[in-house]
Amino acid sequence: MVLDKLKNNKNTLFSFEILPPLKGKSIQSIYDGIDPLIEFNPAFVNVTYHREEFVYKKREKGYLEKISIKKRPGTVGICAAIQNKYDLEAIPHLICGGFTKEETENALIDLNFLGINNVLALRGDPIKTEPHFIPEPGGNKYAVDLVKQIVELNHGKYMDENLEHASPTNFSIGVAGYPEKHFEAPNMKADIKRLKEKIDAGADYIVTQLFYDNQKFFKFVEICRKEGINVPIIPGIKPIENLRHISFLPKFFNIDLPTDLTDELDKCQTNEAVFEVGTAWAKQQSKELIEFGAPCIHYYTMGKSKAVKKIASQIF
Ligand code: FAD
Repeated sequence: MVLDKLKNNKNTLFSFEILPPLKGKSIQSIYDGIDPLIEFNPAFVNVTYHREEFVYKKREKGYLEKISIKKRPGTVGICAAIQNKYDLEAIPHLICGGFTKEETENALIDLNFLGINNVLALRGDPIKTEPHFIPEPGGNKYAVDLVKQIVELNHGKYMDENLEHASPTNFSIGVAGYPEKHFEAPNMKADIKRLKEKIDAGADYIVTQLFYDNQKFFKFVEICRKEGINVPIIPGIKPIENLRHISFLPKFFNIDLPTDLTDELDKCQTNEAVFEVGTAWAKQQSKELIEFGAPCIHYYTMGKSKAVKKIASQIF
């Protein structure tokens, strides 16, 4: 189990996150992203979950038809394929959005039957056409509610109260934490209070949102410990790889880039130059996080392993 590895390992572990490929691509595109990183002995690999999106298609006489599409399906199948091919623990992300509690339970039963015993429990972001997150009717509203549902199942308590001698599951549960605060939280204190509720409900460890200023992570860990959050906290690192990332990452993830980093990035005219600066920065972050005693460093590949390979080859 991931939790055992986090608790029992003396050295900082290496792990990474991948995305399911766009619909229509083969599983080989997943293996092509994982193969270059296997030599660094990853402790686990996370696979993100992507909700449906709504698009409008023009039909006859100018009518618009609203269509629901999933551009990146396959999270569960990819996890099973990874565990089968690499004998490596795969952690599917499971979100509240778009799932009734019954659908969540059925998804957990599928995972359990496949021998996937780890889950990252998340609320999910609002879909593009919603102004704020709207839970599915009959679904979980916050990640803490999802954690509670998984814990119930771990105790053999299914939604059908009439089940007798139901088999308990054995999920290790991770949750998300935000060194720069979740964008909806009124302040850091309120956000940490919510984070503690997830841990008190039974979550085993925290994986953080990506960040570029280690001081913010160190401070976040300090506050968590002060507030009685004692589970492993895994920092999430995303190397900046191209010119587009410089504006996309802060906007999409609601995070800041330190001025020392933007000063260096400002000098870059090409993607190649950004790649050099971004990977050097992430390498330095990784070194400091290892010195700090981080249980694991979790790298966000976003489907591209080149930058993470470069860093891992110098660090792990
Ligand atoms: P929650 O913990 O539910 O918190 C959401 C907000 O509500 C916070 O502001 C919190 O302070 C507040 N809150 C919590 N409980 C309460 C309460 N009881 N009352 C009032 N306020 C409350 N998204 C995806 O769609 N797919 C993914 O695969 C995915 N992977 C991710 C991986 C990581 C490591 C991280 C950090 C994020 C990931 N996300 C993913 C994004 C995530 O779903 C969003 O950040 C989402 O907006 C919040 O999810 P959460 O689990 O942190 O929510």
